[in-house]
Amino acid sequence: MTTRIRTVPNVAAVIATVFLALPPPAASAHQHRATAPAPCVGGERERPGVSAVDDGEIRWTENTRYDGPRKHALKAWQFSGATIELRPDSAATVNDLEFRDYDGGRGDRAPVAQYVRDSGTAATDHIKFNRDKMDGRSLEFQNSAAAHELGHALGLCHKPDRALSLMWTDIASPPIITPQAVDKANYRRLWS
Ligand SMILES: [Zn+2]
Repeated sequence: MTTRIRTVPNVAAVIATVFLALPPPAASAHQHRATAPAPCVGGERERPGVSAVDDGEIRWTENTRYDGPRKHALKAWQFSGATIELRPDSAATVNDLEFRDYDGGRGDRAPVAQYVRDSGTAATDHIKFNRDKMDGRSLEFQNSAAAHELGHALGLCHKPDRALSLMWTDIASPPIITPQAVDKANYRRLWS
């Protein structure tokens, strides 16, 4: 799964549409009901088995120049109520995920970053940052790319545009840098 760039000109209009689509408030018991999970975009599915999670945690290593975005992503997915632990790898554990960089080119079809899953037993997945598309971008853009890819490592698919999501196929402008209500709802459905 890859991340590309797209301009979303009117986020306010998206929010307005969401509110208009909601039914009127009913009993007080419903007023704090959690946001419902969102479907995946065409053909994608969310399953715990398609992730870097192993035994309720992701043990990670890193070999990337994008330390700030990496740290941002790890912190963003340890939100209040998160159940999957994200911890540095140790000698006694299996390395589930490595952050690394590569030269992927600047072409329109080249991703900004990608999550690459290795389906082998005790295998290490990768989050790979394309230096050619990361360098020179704002920290918010880089943070968005890193948090998005870690969302994939946590099993999340791409989401349609009708609700604000870190897991839109493209990086929004301005970038969304943390899991949104929908993203947390999908995370909870996978991991609780
Ligand atoms: Zn993606």
